Amino acid sequence: MDIFTEKLIIYSLVAIFIVVILSVYLLLQKRESRIVEAKIAIAKEEGRYEPITLHPVIDINSCIRSGACITACPEKDIIGIKDGKATIINASRCIGHGACFHACPVQAISLYIGSESRGVDLPHVDHTFETNVPGIYIAGELGGMGLIKNSVEQGRQAVDNLTRKIDKNVVAQYDLVIVGAGPAGVSASLAAKGNNLKAILLEQHSLGGTVITFPRSKIVMTSPMDLPLHGKVKLYETSKMELLNLWTEVLTKNEIDLRENTKVESIQPIEKYFVVRSLKGEEFTARKVLVAIGRSGSPRKLDIPGELSAKVAYRLLEPELIKDKNIVIVGGGDSAIESALLLADQNKVTLSYRGETFGRLKSKNSEKIREAVEENRINLLFRSNLTFIEDHQVKVKITEAPTEMTLPNDLVYIFVGGELPVKFLENIGIRITKKFGEAILKHEK
Ligand SMILES: Cc1cc2nc3c(=O)[nH]c(=O)nc-3n(C[C@H](O)[C@H](O)[C@H](O)COP(=O)(O)OP(=O)(O)OC[C@H]3O[C@@H](n4cnc5c(N)ncnc54)[C@H](O)[C@@H]3O)c2cc1C
Repeated sequence: MDIFTEKLIIYSLVAIFIVVILSVYLLLQKRESRIVEAKIAIAKEEGRYEPITLHPVIDINSCIRSGACITACPEKDIIGIKDGKATIINASRCIGHGACFHACPVQAISLYIGSESRGVDLPHVDHTFETNVPGIYIAGELGGMGLIKNSVEQGRQAVDNLTRKIDKNVVAQYDLVIVGAGPAGVSASLAAKGNNLKAILLEQHSLGGTVITFPRSKIVMTSPMDLPLHGKVKLYETSKMELLNLWTEVLTKNEIDLRENTKVESIQPIEKYFVVRSLKGEEFTARKVLVAIGRSGSPRKLDIPGELSAKVAYRLLEPELIKDKNIVIVGGGDSAIESALLLADQNKVTLSYRGETFGRLKSKNSEKIREAVEENRINLLFRSNLTFIEDHQVKVKITEAPTEMTLPNDLVYIFVGGELPVKFLENIGIRITKKFGEAILKHEK
C-alpha cells in the first residue's frame, strides 16, 4: 500500500470516528431534549411550570450547556437541558438556595421574584438589606425569601453590611436592635456579637420563630448552613427540637441578650437613631435596627363564617395527640400537605385546596400525598373552598358545582400562608411594592 492510500485510510477512519461521535452526541442531545420537553409538559399540566415566587431566569445567549446549574441544584428538575441550552422545567419548585446562580461558569443565571402574571408584595430593600428608611434593615422571610438556611444567611449578611455603617458618635443604648428571634434573628444576633456590636434580640413569644410552631414529629428539611460563632451546621433532615436546642445552646454560650415576650409595637426614626417601643411600654434606642419578623405572625384568614371558632387553628403542634377526629385541612402548600399526612394515620382527613393541582411542593411531599390519596388515606378535594364552619360540620363548595357539600367535622386547620405585616412596616415608613418579575440576585456584567 502506498503512502497516499495509507493516509487516505487513516483520514477516512478519523473522519468516520468524528462523524460517529458527533452522531451519538447529537442523538443523546435529542433524546435529552425530548425527555426535558416531556417533563415540561407534565409540569405545565400539574401547575409547576409557572413560578410562584423566587425562580431562576436563564440568559439563553450566554448559556454554554455546562450543566453546572443542574448539578448544583439540591432540588430535582428545576432546570434541564433542551436543544443545547438550559431551560426551566419546574419553576414553582425553586426554593431559592441560589446554588444555580453561583454555579453557572458564565453567569447566565439570575434569580427573580414574582412573574408577569403573579405579583408578590415585598418591602423595599437594597442589596445590603437596607430598607428605604436608612438604618433599618430587613432579613429573612419578611424580605421575600423563605426557608431556614436562607434566613440564617441573610441575617448574617445584613449585620455584616450594617456594621460598616455604624456611627459610634450617635448616642444610643444599643448599636443594634434585632426584632424577631427566628432563624434570621438568631443568626443576626450571633453575627452582631462576632462583630463586637452591642445588640439586643427582641422576641414577642419565645426563641425559635416559625420553627417553634412546627409539629414535634415533622422532619425539617434544610441544607448545610454557616451559623456565626458556631460554624457549619451540617443538617439535611432534622427535627424542630434539634434546631431549637442548637440555637439555645449557641445563644447561651455567646451570652446573647435575648428578651422574650417582648412584642415590638413601633420603630420610630429620630434624627440619626431609632426608638424601638414594645407593647409593654419599654423603649430601646439603637443606631441601627434589623427587622426579622418573618410572615407567619399573621396567618392569612379565609374570612368565612365560623372561622373564629375554637376548633379552627393555623398551626399544628402535636398531631400525635389527635385521634379519631374528622379533620379538614385547607391549603395546597408543604405545610398543609405535611399536616394532612401527619394526621391521616389516626384520623379521617379531608384536604381542601382551591387550585387544580399542587404547585410548589417539595418532591418528597408530592410523592407522599399522591400515595396517600391513591390509598384513600386522605380525601383530596381540588378546586374547592371551605365556605362555612359549624360546631359539628363544615360546608365545602367545589368550584363550578351547583351545591355545597356538608362534611362531618371536629377540627379545621388552615394553612394558606402568611400576610405581610403591612401596617407595621408602613408605620415605620418602609415602602411596599408588588414585584412582577424582578431580579433580586443578578451578576453585574
Ligand atoms: C409549617 C411550616 C413548615 C416549614 N418547613 C420548613 C422546612 O422543612 N425547612 C425550611 O427550611 N423551612 C421550612 N419552613 C419555612 C421556615 O420556617 C421559614 O422560612 C423561616 O422560619 C423564616 O425565618 P425568619 O427568621 O425570617 O422568620 P420566622 O421564623 O417567622 O421568625 C420571626 C420571629 O419574629 C417574631 N416576631 C414577629 N413580630 C414580632 C414583633 N412585632 N415583635 C417581636 N417579635 C416579633 C415571631 O414571633 C418569630 O419568632 C416551614 C414553614 C412552615 C409554616
